[in-house]
Amino acid sequence: MEDAEASLMVVEEQLGESEELIASRQAVEDRRDALEAVNKQQRDVEWQVDEIRSHLSEEEGKLYGGSVRNPKELAGMQEEADILKRQLRRREDELLDLMVRVEEKQAALQEAKESLAAVEDRWRQEQKELASRKERLEGELAGLQERRKQQSDQVEARVLALYDTLRQRRQGMAVAKVERGMCGGCRISLPMTVLQKARSGFDVVQCVSCERILYVS
Ligand SMILES: [Zn+2]
Repeated sequence: MEDAEASLMVVEEQLGESEELIASRQAVEDRRDALEAVNKQQRDVEWQVDEIRSHLSEEEGKLYGGSVRNPKELAGMQEEADILKRQLRRREDELLDLMVRVEEKQAALQEAKESLAAVEDRWRQEQKELASRKERLEGELAGLQERRKQQSDQVEARVLALYDTLRQRRQGMAVAKVERGMCGGCRISLPMTVLQKARSGFDVVQCVSCERILYVS
């Protein structure tokens, strides 16, 4: 019964979400957040590129529209357009880098998702096995409890109390077999009178040293 209870406890501790599963799920969340952050950066830069482009086309419209003829004014407008073109090139380069980073983050997220799927499959399989082990152990334990009840019903109350006390004091082993005149529990040589009493089987006889209940086969 103690073995079955210990095994059952181990199984029950393993039931439920594993650390690996929780960590894998967290990894997916983290990578999704990382992708979303780069996506947002990309949208911001795209918006900036649009702004600069429309500003530039406005400037160029004025520059080549023919309405402005003053050379100094035209030179100023040309300079402004050049500045905008340089800004545009920088932003477009930035955008290309971001697109590469988005792809990298997408691949990393995909990898984490696949890893999570594998972990989940394995975990589900393990949980299934654990659940059936639990069921088996519970059945085994119920059978043992029933058997213990039947057996203890046939034992005198004082002997049963002695048995339970000794079981606690002697690491679960309350009974020892007599082997070649020795106590099988503590290996001491038993006095002849004790051996004779144990062989007679009339009453419960305890080892003189470890106090375990002796039995002779
Ligand atoms: Zn003994």
